[in-house]
Amino acid sequence: MSAQKCDIAIVGGGPAGLAAGLYGARGLVSTIIFEKQASGGQITTTSWVENYPAFPDGVSGTDLGELMARQAEKYSAQIELFVTVTGIERADGGGFVLRTDSGTDWHARAVILACGAVPRRLDIPGETKYTGRGLSWCATCDANFFKDKVVAAIGGGDTAVEEAMYLTKFASKVYLIHRRDEFRAAPIAVERARKNEKIEFVLDTVPVEILGDGTRVTGLRVKSIANDAERTIDVSGIFQFVGVEPLNELVTNLADVTNNAGYIVVEDDGSIPTIPGLFAAGDLTNNSLKQVVSAAGSGATAAAAALKYLDESE
Ligand code: NAP
Repeated sequence: MSAQKCDIAIVGGGPAGLAAGLYGARGLVSTIIFEKQASGGQITTTSWVENYPAFPDGVSGTDLGELMARQAEKYSAQIELFVTVTGIERADGGGFVLRTDSGTDWHARAVILACGAVPRRLDIPGETKYTGRGLSWCATCDANFFKDKVVAAIGGGDTAVEEAMYLTKFASKVYLIHRRDEFRAAPIAVERARKNEKIEFVLDTVPVEILGDGTRVTGLRVKSIANDAERTIDVSGIFQFVGVEPLNELVTNLADVTNNAGYIVVEDDGSIPTIPGLFAAGDLTNNSLKQVVSAAGSGATAAAAALKYLDESE
């Protein structure tokens, strides 16, 4: 097993990790970003980002990720795509060793965790069986498979409401199924969805089973919160947007620094007080607004703190 050295290793190539990479590289220290998928992290599953400053007409999530990656690379940040960091250990003599599935171990003097979060599951019957067979977590990736079909979007947050709107570009009808009659999503997005004739709101209702013919999704069994009555909604596609879970495995093996919900508790500068040299940024942290702009900001902040740490520990 070969081992390489860097000053700052960043785990996660979403907005937080890419911004950290840009600031680390511009601080003239060797900076590497590991991303297990494509650049951009979760925003690549977002059809259209309307609230990232400097894009008055919006920008696709994929394009925004690519632009951020290009800017970090311009200043010599090294981006390793499709590489998973499988473990992090404290190194003898200081710093950290990152194990990767590429066959290379990396020794880093400082590490910034920007692994983000993954979509939450509902844990209802049919969910595992029909994943990728009509059940999806990504409208950007899969909406075009449902041209002129009827689909359901589940959830009441920004993701559900925004992606339900995106789905109407393809589907003939979108049921927006939410367990309450109030939304977490921004009012402007809910208002827009209410005006869209292709969207039917199904409120105070929870999904209880994904139905299918053995090969593909054919419907969704739902239950009314008000009277427990169940019914089936015929759909050929189901998109689940019921929140996210932090990807915290790498840190939980190092120390007990997460809160009850699994988010890493950081100081204002992204540092983790009990582990000098370890920082976190973005959706994985306890104080995240879960916006692209705040993720990028926290990445820059964590990189600045990491640079200061490197300076002081020399
Ligand atoms: P979220 O805001 O946590 O919303 C999750 C939704 O799923 C909630 O409406 C929740 O219902 C519902 N839900 C959770 N568990 C459920 C279950 N077991 N059964 C049925 N429904 C369930 O998640 P998100 O929409 O993915 O957004 C995550 C974060 O990213 C948020 O902070 C959001 O603001 C941010 N975001 C921002 C933008 C933007 O600014 N353009 C876009 C996307 C996401 P309850 O409301 O009843 O809890």
